[in-house]
Amino acid sequence: MIPDDHPRFRSLVIRERLAECAKKGIVAWEGLIAHGRGEAFDYLIGERTTRSALLAERTAAALLMTARHPVISVNGNTAALAAHEISELQKACGACVEVNLFHRTEGRVEMIENLLRDFGVDVFIGEAERLLPLSHDRAWCRRNGMFSADVVLVPLEDGDRCETLVNMGKTVIAIDLNPLSRTARSATLTIVDEVTRALPQITHACLGLSDSEIENLISFIDNNYLLSEAIREMTARLPDALD
Ligand code: ATP
Ligand code: MG
Repeated sequence: MIPDDHPRFRSLVIRERLAECAKKGIVAWEGLIAHGRGEAFDYLIGERTTRSALLAERTAAALLMTARHPVISVNGNTAALAAHEISELQKACGACVEVNLFHRTEGRVEMIENLLRDFGVDVFIGEAERLLPLSHDRAWCRRNGMFSADVVLVPLEDGDRCETLVNMGKTVIAIDLNPLSRTARSATLTIVDEVTRALPQITHACLGLSDSEIENLISFIDNNYLLSEAIREMTARLPDALD
């Protein structure tokens, strides 16, 4: 039982949810470690959506709304933390939702697909093939899904697949709290924000952006600026941390 007046209530509830999903096999044990790294960076940005992250979220919405074939790639951590938020975003932008795992087994893929369906996601299924030029199992995807996407949203991605997708000519939107990761640096657009805060902001923007706002956001994409702003926000907070 986590008391709801605990100062770290939200973080503890999220950890409990991830641990529960790890016991069921939805989240990989390694996913718990990845979450810990994310939490550390979230502390540094003050566990809030920064101004530059909001700009990135609005830009992500603009890219998804104008995509020919947008795909949201979901792994175990994302499904455990944000199945409802994925469902809402899919309704707003019409993207395919496809499961893609580093620690892949058919059983895990099925469990994650079922979890997403329980939250109302229309999951893209079909025969997966080893289509991406990667030596690990993130290479598996569907020819009519991720493989032929023009815009891919990758929450909590691995750096080498992100680079591969970019090298294939895709527009890649990453959600990653670490602005120094290979994922953050190789994506077309990086949202340095926690996944459960980022997704509802993207959905909100999908429902509200005008055509001219979409055009403006897309013409000013500058990932280096977004990453350096994220680092600036983190370092600017440090001198006051002990006040
Ligand atoms: P890369 O392969 O890109 O260099 P990495 O190997 O350091 O990254 P991974 O284990 O591949 O990291 O992926 C975990 C990433 O996801 C970390 O960078 C972490 O900051 C981020 N992350 C973890 N949990 C969350 C979350 N809830 N919201 C947003 N980002 C998160
Ligand atoms: Mg990695």
